[in-house]
Amino acid sequence: MSKVQYYLKSFLLWELLLGLKLTGKYFFKTKITVQYPEEKTPQSNRFRGLHALRRYPNGEERCIACKLCEAVCPALAITIDAEPREDGSRRTTRYDIDLFKCIYCGFCEEACPVDAIVETRVFEYTFETRDESVMTKEKLLAHGDMHEKQIAADRAQDAKFR
Ligand code: SF4
Ligand code: SF4
Repeated sequence: MSKVQYYLKSFLLWELLLGLKLTGKYFFKTKITVQYPEEKTPQSNRFRGLHALRRYPNGEERCIACKLCEAVCPALAITIDAEPREDGSRRTTRYDIDLFKCIYCGFCEEACPVDAIVETRVFEYTFETRDESVMTKEKLLAHGDMHEKQIAADRAQDAKFR
């Protein structure tokens, strides 16, 4: 660029005009900004949000304490203790997920043979203390109970494509 061109462009505010041209190009286009939290973007039925433990319709917990999810978890976020119950079935006595360690990869739900541990569509959650970041068995089951309808619908939709 010659010196004359350089000074002419500076004098005519050429770069500012280029910027305004771009602004004008998008000024009348449909806006894609989502007014969160009033508006939400669509979610996949495979969305990997906050975890939950599921029960069977008779209320029995699905988890059979096989520990496959604990073994497969790349972040070592899951801690399980298990004991046989009086009826001889094996169940967890402790099932913790440390959400600060979890990377939401979904390996735990993929590994589970009875569809017990799942990741729900819930992504809006906060903690006020360090302890709250650990999802205990009680919290996971309560969360599963709360969202079972949506979880079941998502799993049914997913099964169509497998
Ligand atoms: S989503 Fe991944 S990182 Fe998180 S608990 Fe499951 S296996 Fe571990
Ligand atoms: S959640 Fe599933 S994979 Fe994990 S211990 Fe229970 S049954 Fe096994």
